Amino acid sequence: MTADTRFCTTAASPWGIFFGIGQQVFDQVWGQLTDPAGNSVTYISMEIGADLDVFHPVRDRLLEAGIVAGDDPTLDFHIKKFVNGPTKIPNYSGGLGVLAGDTLKSFADLRLPVAAISLLYRKGYFSQVVDSRLGQIACRTEWHPEQTPGLYLLQDPERPGTPLEIEIPFFDRNDAQVPARAQVWLKLELAGDLQWFVPEILLDFSVPVTPEWIRNAADQLYEASSERAKAIQRRLLGASVVPVMQRLGITSRTIHLNEQHGVVLVLHLIAEELRRKFGDEYAILASDDDIRAAADAVRQRVVYTIHTPVKAGHDRFEKNLYAELSHSFCQRILQLLAADAEHPGMFNFTALAMRVNRATNAVSRLHKLVTQKQFPAFAGQITAITNGVHHLTWVSPNRARLYDATPQFAGWRTDPGVFRRAVELKKNAGFRQALRQAWQQDTEHLVRTVNRMLVEHRNQMLSTWIDPPNYLSHLEGDDGRLFADWYTVGFARRFSTYKRADLIFEDLERLAAILKAGNFRINFIYAGKAHPADEPGKALIKEIIDLQDELFHMTNGAARLVFIPNYDMAVARMMVAGVHAWLNSPKRPLEASGTSGMKAAMNGVPNISIMDGWWVEGYHNGTTGWKFGYEAPIDDTALREDPDALLYAEDAASFYALLPEILETFYHRPEEYLDRAIMNLAYNCPIFNTHRMAAEYVHNYRLNLPDETAERLASLAALYQSDERP
Ligand SMILES: *Cc1c(COP(=O)(O)O)cnc(C)c1O
Repeated sequence: MTADTRFCTTAASPWGIFFGIGQQVFDQVWGQLTDPAGNSVTYISMEIGADLDVFHPVRDRLLEAGIVAGDDPTLDFHIKKFVNGPTKIPNYSGGLGVLAGDTLKSFADLRLPVAAISLLYRKGYFSQVVDSRLGQIACRTEWHPEQTPGLYLLQDPERPGTPLEIEIPFFDRNDAQVPARAQVWLKLELAGDLQWFVPEILLDFSVPVTPEWIRNAADQLYEASSERAKAIQRRLLGASVVPVMQRLGITSRTIHLNEQHGVVLVLHLIAEELRRKFGDEYAILASDDDIRAAADAVRQRVVYTIHTPVKAGHDRFEKNLYAELSHSFCQRILQLLAADAEHPGMFNFTALAMRVNRATNAVSRLHKLVTQKQFPAFAGQITAITNGVHHLTWVSPNRARLYDATPQFAGWRTDPGVFRRAVELKKNAGFRQALRQAWQQDTEHLVRTVNRMLVEHRNQMLSTWIDPPNYLSHLEGDDGRLFADWYTVGFARRFSTYKRADLIFEDLERLAAILKAGNFRINFIYAGKAHPADEPGKALIKEIIDLQDELFHMTNGAARLVFIPNYDMAVARMMVAGVHAWLNSPKRPLEASGTSGMKAAMNGVPNISIMDGWWVEGYHNGTTGWKFGYEAPIDDTALREDPDALLYAEDAASFYALLPEILETFYHRPEEYLDRAIMNLAYNCPIFNTHRMAAEYVHNYRLNLPDETAERLASLAALYQSDERP
């Protein structure tokens, strides 16, 4: 068989040369994004998680074809970079960014005309080191966009060889313009078949003319050394959208705000609108009613997804602080559109996003109810489009081989709807055996990796001052490791207090008694970062580290807890495929969706979860996993986040009541356990993927698509209706 090497080419553009796509594909996509009809979408997100070590279609093809060098210098340069270059792009902190990346990959797979805008953080997001005495230590992340394959610094078409720079409107207290200039990076998010791409436009403010205080605020994702730095970072994102689109010629009529971080954009759209009507003197000539009318016109261009009911997820800034960072006309608009009833001295940017859009989406059915409760004035406009994950990113290579070899799943890469046919496979002994085997291989890989890490940490004790984060690193022989045939439970996500990482360790005696009664063994594998400014979140990590030896001794070594430092997408992919169950224990209803459990489901791994977020829709009466915890009515009490309201005792007791049943199923009725895996494929794979999610969003985007694309999207949208209307 001769390998298809048509991808092994470059496309030229006024902005530079891009590798891995044909000229025709580039011209077609760019042509649509710059078409005067504006029939495209620009997607705004503070973070985008799309690491190359979990999805990298060009490199995969190079390796498949055995190509490691090129016959002309340009090709050779790109091929070597793609094969050997770094694979981490640390421009994300957690679920929001990973969702953005997954969404853009599906947009590309579905051939939708979309461009994304975000920032490029020179220091990325922090790297996590964990020490048993100190807990989490935040370290600087070293990364080099110049060396990273698929990232291109755009060139100025008028001055070849010089990087393109864009001026962002930024004003001080006296309305004097501050020079905020950014270089522009492009990451091509390629479709799996390389026949389409979504350009991610990443603004990099680390240029010398930009004042240091702005550069510093843009250096690191969710830089939170001060409220001021946070406000600046948000402004840089929102204020960049119009100038970037103008400079690159992107004409999208629809702009999608992924969370409200970039909502400052609407201030600029309103100003543009007024300038068209009143000319350059608009700030003096426009009345409040004119501003409101302009906002109504701008509304038609904005689609907004709200991602969390948790307070820390919403942006409020002191009016005084904002006066130092923005034009007085901006503040006038904010007075009219971003009032905060609870905090009259602040601007509320979530309220602004709520007010100025034509579609507001919550990220699950339950989250829709919660959001309606939180924003009663906008309840009528809030709909639900339940999140998903990019299945091609999250299915492990072992599982992918199985899906490829299963005739019922033919076409699963493009149409996750085929997984419904898994129902037919429930009685197929060959399939059951193959699934069991693929799963076991993934578990062995995970456990081997963890065991290697435990030894490495122990050895590092001699060369660094870090005390190993895991108690097992201090033990010898069989005590100091995990076993792949023990029941293995995974938990990994950001360490925010509402996610209650320590919930199931509330009563270690009870846990020990359960294991002893059934003579059960269990591995717990944990991972996750806490934002460096989140003291309670960091305390949770410390607590997980601290309870390891007590858990080990109280259970005579039958329960072992390991924490993997520096959680990222690669760790996530290994964990979701390798564990026997994925644990999710947030305080209901504060987890708007959650996506890590969906990644497990794509591999057939059952969830053990609170009835919150997506699990309300993915639980299917227990055929796909287990539920526990108090299903509180959605009222103001339920939304409380203070420690007293987190229901630890109740929900932990509910978990302990359930656990023996789960362990008995795993150890004594393995066929029944495997049934749950198969039903995850049948019920959850077709729904909780970003292909289906993107297809539901397309309705809000109002795109005119070619018939063939529209038909394909309609069939994906038909897989589910997130917005269940009463
Ligand atoms: C999927 C993912 C998350 C999100 O997990 P949730 O359970 O939705 O909170 C966070 N971080 C990484 C690295 C992920 O891959």
